[in-house]
Amino acid sequence: MPDDFIRKSQAEREAANMPDLAIAREELGWDAFRSWLDYLPGGRLNIAYEAVDRHVVHGHGEREALRWLSKNGDRRSFTFAELKRETDRFARMLADRGFGKGTRAYSLLGRVPELYIAALGTLKAGGVFCPLYSAFGPEPVRSRLEIGEGEVLLVSPRTYTKKVAPARKRLPHLQLVLLTPCADQTPEGTVDLAQALGETPAEFECVATDPQDMALLHFTSGTTGKPKGAVHVHEAVIAHNATGRIALDLHPEDIYWCTADPGWVTGTSYGIIAPLCAGATMVIEEAEFDAERWYGLLEREQVTVWYTAPTAIRLLMRAGAELAKEHDLSRLRFLASVGEPLNAEAVQWSARVFGKPFHDNWWQTETGGIMIANYASMDVKPGSMGKPLPGVEAEIMEVGEDALAPVEGVMQPGHLALRAGWPSMFRTYLGEQERYEKTFQDGWYLTGDLAMRDADGYFWFVGRADDVIKSAGHLIGPFEVESALVEHPAVAEAAVIGMPDERVGEVVKAYVTLHHGHEPSEELRKQLIAHARKKLGAAIAPRQIEISDDLPRTRSGKIMRRLLKARELGLPEGDTSTLESTA
Ligand code: ATP
Ligand code: MG
Repeated sequence: MPDDFIRKSQAEREAANMPDLAIAREELGWDAFRSWLDYLPGGRLNIAYEAVDRHVVHGHGEREALRWLSKNGDRRSFTFAELKRETDRFARMLADRGFGKGTRAYSLLGRVPELYIAALGTLKAGGVFCPLYSAFGPEPVRSRLEIGEGEVLLVSPRTYTKKVAPARKRLPHLQLVLLTPCADQTPEGTVDLAQALGETPAEFECVATDPQDMALLHFTSGTTGKPKGAVHVHEAVIAHNATGRIALDLHPEDIYWCTADPGWVTGTSYGIIAPLCAGATMVIEEAEFDAERWYGLLEREQVTVWYTAPTAIRLLMRAGAELAKEHDLSRLRFLASVGEPLNAEAVQWSARVFGKPFHDNWWQTETGGIMIANYASMDVKPGSMGKPLPGVEAEIMEVGEDALAPVEGVMQPGHLALRAGWPSMFRTYLGEQERYEKTFQDGWYLTGDLAMRDADGYFWFVGRADDVIKSAGHLIGPFEVESALVEHPAVAEAAVIGMPDERVGEVVKAYVTLHHGHEPSEELRKQLIAHARKKLGAAIAPRQIEISDDLPRTRSGKIMRRLLKARELGLPEGDTSTLESTA
């Protein structure tokens, strides 16, 4: 484990919203974070009110809230006052049509302003919003609408015809289909969104929801199996707001870009709610990843806080440091990453190329918000996911038959558990209550991930419990092996799995992709095996290494080790609804 800190200066610490984690852990927690919000009379709480209306009430309506960059170079900008107006109008349009509290509204839109307005407007109307990734195929769309009993759907005319219309008869709950952009003709059973909004006044009083009312439905990424529908309530905004300020260090002056699609929890918690709560300006990029375009955006829009994912970072590394250096990225002040383990190599690369390290943070769809993070005021240990947020109690546990026990000693792997009861904790897996209950034991939520804690209290990701490899009595975490492989100059990405072995139980097999300028060869393969042995020792190093063009990953960019394993062993592939189509 690399132990070399990337140190923060005194000035950096002082400028951070949370200058000192140890002090904050004493002084802050969920009670304090509750008081950071306005609430509605009578202890009521609505995410959209806190994200949008509150700023208008406090006289900040003229500040830029949302800046949208379209695929073809158009841009649109909304102040908080304009966003309030348009979300009021959307809520009113739903309410006028009889879709009030509890309405399940889904979106299949790409990253267009209508999606953001619909999300916040639905919440204002007291409804439940469920964003789906627009590139899902017809069956994943149908099954998710069915599980969540979707009543309202926002969708483009093309997607509607291709993916929804054929299944419409089997979706009895679906009553209102809103199409955008405007089509030449609206198919039967659909409504033109612009027309519907055009007929509706922007007058609406935000529904005073209870903090425990259901607000969001998010499907997990499907990395380890069939996606689960995690339910979140309005008080999740306590965590979105607090973590946006503390873990992402968002200030109202920031220009912030979260690269995640709202179809994944990151793109909603941190691509809609947290930045708006902080009063920052959020940039929305409609187009998909392109290294040159991304650097251009960061430079042109003068982005100050950037939240992205390891896959994108690895792609940027693959594109080379020279490309980054062609752009003036001096406005960037805080870089954060989530979704997969971030290799130490990537953190060091960013420190070299951007002059600032990426700050890894850990959370899941189920946790609703960041739980463990590297903070602006805290020295970074490359490869570590940081320390728990004030208010969050995280523990490394040994899971026995009917009892949990904290793992003794430092850097000992165990199950990562969180003390249950934080506000953005999921409230059920929709339709799978039993499965939900099984994730809790003795007042702890078991995350399904394995981690370790070092002597300084930093947490280190080991692997998903499902992906851990057991070999000759050793427990091998895929992340450690993958991190060692990507330290080799030829290797861009790595994924490892356990292969059944009669003698030792399992042996490690690795799949790697190469950086540009490196060609697969037997010699390179041998070099990689030797490199891994040197770094990891023979017991842990992969016995086999396969050089691939690409790795199977979810649309949110997570490597699907279970597919590599199923393919290797000739087993059924299971649910592939979230698989990126190119892999
Ligand atoms: P599914 O639960 O359907 O298999 P998923 O777990 O990938 O999919 P998400 O909730 O989107 O769905 O992802 C959360 C998981 O992603 C975490 O449990 C963890 O395994 C991984 N993860 C997220 N952030 C980090 C991080 N910083 N370091 C390591 N792993 C991370
Ligand atoms: Mg999961």
